[in-house]
Amino acid sequence: MKKVLLFGLAAAVVLVFSFVHVETCPAKVTFVTIGTGGVTGIYYPTGGAIGKIVNKKRKIYNLRVTVESTGGSVFNVNAVMAGDLEFGLIQSDRQYQAWNGLKDWKDKGPQKKLRAICSFHPESIVLVAGDDTGIETFMDIKGKHVNIGNPGSGQRGNSTDAMKACGIDWNKDLRAEGLKADESAKFLQDGRIDAFFYTVGHPNGSIKEATSGRRKVHFVPVTGACIDKLVAKWPFYAKAYIPIEFYPMAGNKENVDTFAVKTTFCTNADMPDDVVYAITKEVFDNLEDFKKLHPAYGVLTKQNMLEALSAPIHPGAMRYYKEVGLK
Ligand code: GLU
Repeated sequence: MKKVLLFGLAAAVVLVFSFVHVETCPAKVTFVTIGTGGVTGIYYPTGGAIGKIVNKKRKIYNLRVTVESTGGSVFNVNAVMAGDLEFGLIQSDRQYQAWNGLKDWKDKGPQKKLRAICSFHPESIVLVAGDDTGIETFMDIKGKHVNIGNPGSGQRGNSTDAMKACGIDWNKDLRAEGLKADESAKFLQDGRIDAFFYTVGHPNGSIKEATSGRRKVHFVPVTGACIDKLVAKWPFYAKAYIPIEFYPMAGNKENVDTFAVKTTFCTNADMPDDVVYAITKEVFDNLEDFKKLHPAYGVLTKQNMLEALSAPIHPGAMRYYKEVGLK
């Protein structure tokens, strides 16, 4: 009887210890979230692509990457600075402005804890208008009902920059909307707006939706002497065009001239080096697999992914770049 009891006690002790062992042994998993944009943009799948590549190694790094749909670049800068999100996809112009305390950060001042990791695909300033609106040139948006982009988005900065450069006051000269990018295509197709701005890479699902509905629409070139001056003024702007091959239902027959920025990947200076190192290494070491995840990444090279960064490179990313001779 005593023996049985003792055995039972020993078994119980083993059980408790093995339970405790199971509970305490696995290393703590670090969860990090990437702030992206609307679900129909390219930031959202880009966050997903980074997560897909990095999460394959989650057992090695004890790291799990998740993605959040957000209002876009400005929202992402502010969330990363506040520590609400660990990473953010941010237009290169917005990174420059945040780092230097310009535009949306004029009152808050320079965002000195912002750190860059790398850049991704180019994004062009797209202006889509209904064929029935008479908007053929950029200046024709005067007097029209136009979505200039939601507050918090990258596109709102670009549309307002372009309008300001060309002497258009969006408070007086047009009926400006602040709709989210996801809503723009439907609003245009439903005839509830005349045109919308979107700063996005190509091909993009939302632009496809906007150009392939019943209402006939076309891209409006964002060009002119005032745009040339704007592009010449800022290092983050470059001339570009919308490749029309991606949007066969749009009214245009040829590529459409406009200007562009780049998508960049940023974090906070407080992010641990190991986490940033792991993410950078996985994306760069597996770049060919990464590039298969969206056609917009076709132009990416390890070298051009270090361009268009204004904030200092995070030390975790720099460790990787030094290791492989990219820096
Ligand atoms: N450029 C947009 C922004 O910063 C997002 C574009 C996208 O989601 O692909 O708000």
